[in-house]
Amino acid sequence: MIIVLNSNITEEQKHHIRSFLSSKGYQVHEIVGTEETVFGAVGRATVDVREVEMLPGVAKVVPITKPYKLASRELKKEDTIVQVGKHVTIGGGRIVVIAGPCAVESREQIMRIAGEVREAGAVMLRGGAFKPRTSPYAFQGLGEEGLKYLKEAGERYDMPVTSEIVSPDSVEMMKDYVDMFQIGARNMQNFELLKAVGKTGMPVLLKRGLSATIDEWLMAAEYLMSSGTDQVVLCERGIRTFERATRNTLDCSAIPVVQKLTHLPVIGDPSHATGMRDMVSPMSLALIAGGASGVIVEVHDHPEQALSDGPQSLYPEQFEKMVRDIEALAPVVGKSLERVPRSHLAVSAEIAGQVPDINLDLPIAFQGVHGAFSELAVSRLFGEAAKTYPCKEFFDVFKAVDSGKVIYGVVPVENTLGGTVNGTIDLLTRFPNIQVVGEQQIRINHDLIVVPGAQLSDIKEVYSHPQGLAQCADFLAKYLPDARPVSFFDTAGSVEYIAQQDDKSKAAIAGKPAAEFYHMEILREGIETNPKNYTRFYVICRQEHARAFLSSHSPNRTVFSFTVGDQPGTLLKVLKVLEAHRMNMKKLESRPIPGKPWEYSFVVESEIPGAEAFLQARGELRDVCGNLQFHGTFFAE
Ligand code: PEP
Ligand code: MN
Repeated sequence: MIIVLNSNITEEQKHHIRSFLSSKGYQVHEIVGTEETVFGAVGRATVDVREVEMLPGVAKVVPITKPYKLASRELKKEDTIVQVGKHVTIGGGRIVVIAGPCAVESREQIMRIAGEVREAGAVMLRGGAFKPRTSPYAFQGLGEEGLKYLKEAGERYDMPVTSEIVSPDSVEMMKDYVDMFQIGARNMQNFELLKAVGKTGMPVLLKRGLSATIDEWLMAAEYLMSSGTDQVVLCERGIRTFERATRNTLDCSAIPVVQKLTHLPVIGDPSHATGMRDMVSPMSLALIAGGASGVIVEVHDHPEQALSDGPQSLYPEQFEKMVRDIEALAPVVGKSLERVPRSHLAVSAEIAGQVPDINLDLPIAFQGVHGAFSELAVSRLFGEAAKTYPCKEFFDVFKAVDSGKVIYGVVPVENTLGGTVNGTIDLLTRFPNIQVVGEQQIRINHDLIVVPGAQLSDIKEVYSHPQGLAQCADFLAKYLPDARPVSFFDTAGSVEYIAQQDDKSKAAIAGKPAAEFYHMEILREGIETNPKNYTRFYVICRQEHARAFLSSHSPNRTVFSFTVGDQPGTLLKVLKVLEAHRMNMKKLESRPIPGKPWEYSFVVESEIPGAEAFLQARGELRDVCGNLQFHGTFFAE
């Protein structure tokens, strides 16, 4: 049962409720959510619910209708985000790619493959050391020796590792080698194994059994959780059906089904599902499109010589292409690919120590109110746990960074429908000490947001930023022709406003994060006319902090501004320098110079083909530009 606690409950009352339930034979788990704190009480015992309801501090008691309790969404509404190793998180708005060979075959083999998959974008390494093979004569894995190599490869390439456990007797030994246990399909219902692994409290990747129903799979997760871990990641890896064209049948629809039933993250394994390498990439994309939080795939540099599962192992170059495709798809489903190190949060103490006055606990500044798309960009870049500092204007974000109130700020620079955000690029020239060090793309999805319980027929006014109203004009004309559109200073702000008004006749147009933040209801999802609506954001910081912002790739973009003389051909000279050094221009804007009527400066964002070419171009640009200012180099997808 779920015991919802009063918001002002005292520690003493909590203690009392816990001891009461334990004395009746229940296991009690505290779950702190954004909206409420609850106790989940599970066990074989039964107690008269009214007795619990009467305890001081209890708001209400709700039964859990599903056979799985700790794993159920009824108990915990928020998505669980599983942390593996120091840096990797699975679930929430991120997509993780776990890759490696089916089996660790030798030290050299796992080292080579680890290097390749890391380079291509994997954040975790897989490799079996105990292989549950159909035939007793097939390669059974290197055992502990294999785990040693796997761990060494993970450490060398800074990736947490996962490997399959097949016997409860191995738990103690394996604990020191793996960051996440893998329970294989054949062992999904090996309950003694589940209990032994659950007891460690460590993260577990739980594959779906070959012929397991979704309920059976979730009951297996329940075994792990009731034994002591809350860090479970589910993995759909294909089930046995009458179809033999593929090794198994990938049950893509299990992904959204499972997400409704449980708060645990779910990923997919297209390698074991299809059994053929040609099908792995398309099915990875299908899984991600279906809402999976990531994929685990087999990669081998010589698959034809692999000791197991060669035919389904990707060549490293196929894997690299697949990761790029996943990265392109990610914003469409409102997620971003997990990259490690993701941001300054991953900065090593060593680097931070060399950078003067850097306090990484400071919040990240953004423009808007809580729930804004800019705040979503912050959490994609810096992690869900990052603290944020809302600012009224773009200027305030720059000021907060410049004055040292915060180290980083995140500001929009362009939108696929609205074009360049001039406010941001103008401020770059006004704050010469501020540099662009990173970027993030977010898909802008507009939803119709209302006070809980309101219906379309209640709505008389719709609030949003003018862009939000314009981008949803077709929906408004069709479904709310009589409602009055009201312009507001920003989209999330309009949700804050209708929440304050608590009036069913007022609706807002904004994104899901704003609806969640202000506890409002989404009446219609994705109401924008053009779904190809993306905004790119810049990460900015002071020059002296720029090197503390780690990116997993070397910079491939730069932004700079300049003026040219008022004669024919002066801009052409600048463009010729860019052409000579193969610096492909991605953006060229002309902006008025304040205080100098009819004079303009130019702002360019361009690709950097290599460090050498960039340095040469920089030197030559100085000869042909006036007021040349470089606003940073960074990595862009
Ligand atoms: C594996 O991941 O190598 C494996 C054996 O997977 P499954 O348990 O899904 O068959
Ligand atoms: Mn395999």
